[in-house]
Amino acid sequence: MERSNFLFIWADSGLSTKSNHVNAPYHFVHVGEIIDYVEKNINQKVNLLDIEAEETEFQDIMKNIMENQYKAIAFYVNTENLQNTIKLHDYIKEILPTCKTIVYGEMPIYLPKFFKSTNFDAIVSRECDQEIAILDFFKYSIGLKEKEKMRGVILIQNKQLIKCQKGEYLKAKEWGYTNPKKVPIEKYFKMEKKEQVVLTIARGCPYDCPYCNAVLYYGKKERRRDTKDIINYINNQQYEYYKFFAPDFTLNEEEAINLCKSLIKEGRKIKWSCTTRPDLLQNEELIKLMSKSGCYKIAIGIESVEKNDLENVNKKYDSKVILEGINLLQKYNIEYKALVMFGMPNQTKNNIKYTLDFLNTHNVKIRPTAYTPFYEMNCNMNAEQISKYDKRTYYEGINNLSYGDFLRLIYDTPNYKQILG
Ligand code: SF4
Repeated sequence: MERSNFLFIWADSGLSTKSNHVNAPYHFVHVGEIIDYVEKNINQKVNLLDIEAEETEFQDIMKNIMENQYKAIAFYVNTENLQNTIKLHDYIKEILPTCKTIVYGEMPIYLPKFFKSTNFDAIVSRECDQEIAILDFFKYSIGLKEKEKMRGVILIQNKQLIKCQKGEYLKAKEWGYTNPKKVPIEKYFKMEKKEQVVLTIARGCPYDCPYCNAVLYYGKKERRRDTKDIINYINNQQYEYYKFFAPDFTLNEEEAINLCKSLIKEGRKIKWSCTTRPDLLQNEELIKLMSKSGCYKIAIGIESVEKNDLENVNKKYDSKVILEGINLLQKYNIEYKALVMFGMPNQTKNNIKYTLDFLNTHNVKIRPTAYTPFYEMNCNMNAEQISKYDKRTYYEGINNLSYGDFLRLIYDTPNYKQILG
């Protein structure tokens, strides 16, 4: 690795999340695209230690830190890698006490106050594009930015959080692109389970569901990349598969239609997938164009099909809307991948069975996660308590369902009939 003043680190997470496909897209979005922006705007090379993806040995991490006299390091931190990040950070501060460190990602967004009693120098604030704050922080570390003028940076001093400037959002035109030569792309493909590039199409979501971080990261107003820029990027790549990363790809139907038409007219032949809500799948013309332009799969955050489950998490759609979406996608040969949650507030075994029976009857693929009430985390918890808020294993209890059976349900969903009895 060449010498550099700056480093990004994604520390290893726990056993249950390591190299997990649920986290895989975030390596492109929160590392690849962000580094690209920072490098271009600071005009210096930035190093990356994606320990989670590369499974780097501790000795090599330490060697890298000792060989480089980094001026600043940005750590990506979610609930699962918090403990390891704190440990690693403590070692780094021993070796490089003058190096400035900043935390970005899920944790500072959910629980900024947690960092008051840590050794980090700063965190990225809510509702700020992360790369803006990291760029300003890196510039500050080499004397190119005044402390008070850093946008979206919160400094940690004497166990207090001190806000610098308010956060800002970039224009979509300025967002970076993952450079396959910069990141360990083969490892990312391994996590994605195919040679698939993840590309941010939109940021921001108007819905603000309580268990989701989309709004805390990027606000309620959706911003989209320009169609021409997306086509240009894809036409310059060699890969066949793409995941279009957007909270709700079909929210802005006009823009989604434009992109599909451009892909058909000017784009390389690719296969792509995206994510959306069940109630945003009602425009047949759009679905037809998506299929024609290479869309082979849509992941849909239905959470449940059962009426009470949906009401309990404030969802306004019902099973009829979900079924219409399934039928429409099947008509155009697009896979409907249902994202469901187990352990939702007041959910019963019967509710889960109802949802799984429904999806099974309609031949829908299911990707389950555990309902995780991140909003219940508080700054008095320690890193170990916080690490329990893991989307794969979090469990508060369902009547007559043991934790073992809950885990079986998550990791062996096709056998749900046997598990639920
Ligand atoms: S609609 Fe989806 S992306 Fe938007 S807040 Fe809800 S869960 Fe998150």
